[in-house]
Amino acid sequence: MRKPNVYAFGGLDRAAHLRLLPDWYERHVMLETTRIVPLFQDRNLVAGVGVPPENPWDLLPGDPEAILLTPEEAEHLLPHAADPVLLGTMNGTAYIALDLSGLEKEHAEAAVERHGVFRDLRRFGPNLPAFEGSVLAYARGLAYWHRRHRFCGICGSPTESRRGGHQRTCLNPDCGAPHFPRTDPAVIMLIEHGDRLLLGRQQTWPEGQYSVLAGFVEPGESLEEAVIREVFEESGVRVGQVRYHSSQPWPFPCSIMLGFWGVAETTEIVRKDDELADARWVSLADLRRVDEIGLRLPRRDSIARRMIEDWMADRG
Ligand SMILES: [Zn+2]
Repeated sequence: MRKPNVYAFGGLDRAAHLRLLPDWYERHVMLETTRIVPLFQDRNLVAGVGVPPENPWDLLPGDPEAILLTPEEAEHLLPHAADPVLLGTMNGTAYIALDLSGLEKEHAEAAVERHGVFRDLRRFGPNLPAFEGSVLAYARGLAYWHRRHRFCGICGSPTESRRGGHQRTCLNPDCGAPHFPRTDPAVIMLIEHGDRLLLGRQQTWPEGQYSVLAGFVEPGESLEEAVIREVFEESGVRVGQVRYHSSQPWPFPCSIMLGFWGVAETTEIVRKDDELADARWVSLADLRRVDEIGLRLPRRDSIARRMIEDWMADRG
């Protein structure tokens, strides 16, 4: 790997031992060194960005700064936060995620307006330092999980956050089931045949936007099997050799992307479902002149882009 994937390798110590302290929140929340990571409805607090461009694939203009509040700055937010999460520590600083999603939108926005605005991390994450990017993504993933697991999937009773926000426990004494944050594995694969790559375009993507193929791993399936199955379903191409590339946390909302390189054994494209609007082989020469031919590559924060760039770099 030439460089870490965006949202990975931030360097935070997850400090799992601190989660076990029943008073972890009281111990850390008002320490001067603590930093609060505010969230609202899957959006993170950021400053220094301009008006969002119309194309949802475009990044926000400006020079984004992730806003991590001091306890003093966040004091007025604390009563409104549901299920604070101890994200971890870094050089003696504890990072705590606070989800303000229980507030009305105007109230949440007003409560932080001195500091920044709530925006979708996917639209500014690639322009953040690795540490901030990874902390904001991590906080977002856990906040999403908490909001969707308020009730036990076994007995339907309410659940309560435990262990620093890394577990929820069913409050029905006859059940008491623990529930843990979910991360859904998805495979994403760069499929090559000679000097060409197999790229696809989803129905909802802007015209000209292409990426490598991807899909969720199914129960009872190995990662390699998932790669081969997904490529065949989406393109009709048969894949032989499959090799691991790298992974990327993708809490948008709750995945990890597992990147693979695969070698195609056939080249005829037959689309079996309508998941893709198009699938095609794109040559190395065309990848080097995407602007000229009107092809848009995946976003800079994606492992898809990394895999394509690594593949091109290997070819000089
Ligand atoms: Zn239960």
